[in-house]
Amino acid sequence: MINLILFGPPGSGKGTQAVKLVEKYNLVHISTGDLFRSQIAEKTDMGMKAKAFMDKGELVPDEVTIGMLKNKMLAHPEAEGFIFDGFPRTIPQAEALDIMLADSKEEIAAVLELEVSEEEIVERLLNRAKTSGRSDDANEDIIRNRFQVYLEKTAPVAKHYAKVDKAHKVNGLGSIDDIFERLVGSIDTVLAC
Ligand code: AMP
Repeated sequence: MINLILFGPPGSGKGTQAVKLVEKYNLVHISTGDLFRSQIAEKTDMGMKAKAFMDKGELVPDEVTIGMLKNKMLAHPEAEGFIFDGFPRTIPQAEALDIMLADSKEEIAAVLELEVSEEEIVERLLNRAKTSGRSDDANEDIIRNRFQVYLEKTAPVAKHYAKVDKAHKVNGLGSIDDIFERLVGSIDTVLAC
């Protein structure tokens, strides 16, 4: 099994690259943001609870997010590996994921950290808002809050995996294909070891 974490601030290109990586490595894509958005569209209790946090650019509480992630993984016993996009976003989420994988004698192979500056993120997300329809992309204050939350709560997750030599920084600027090539280069190096 190959389990990868696609890591980086909101708007760093995780979703776009995940779709391409899923195809190349035959993985199941899990985006917690997408899962929350479908809960919201279905107007479930979980969706309504999550929406209040998402609208402010805050994180949905760990117990809700981890429970949802576990259910999604359990729904794919056939998976040859997972690509986690937007998860884990806190240290407790990373610890829960490590335990879940260890329970089935699996582990994270690599964390690929897309590096993009705050100013570039603001520009990209304001642009994305024109087509994504996402209210959390349309407001600069909310975008900057999401970036701050990333620095405070999510960036430590990369350090957690760096301690076990699993974190790999990847330049997140350039064309979609250039970034994809860089990611594939990092992943193939890890898989060759
Ligand atoms: P994303 O689509 O990954 O940018 O996520 C959109 C929003 O969903 C985030 O700003 C959070 O409010 C929420 N969210 C997504 N994934 C997580 C997570 N792993 N932990 C907590 N909140 C999350």
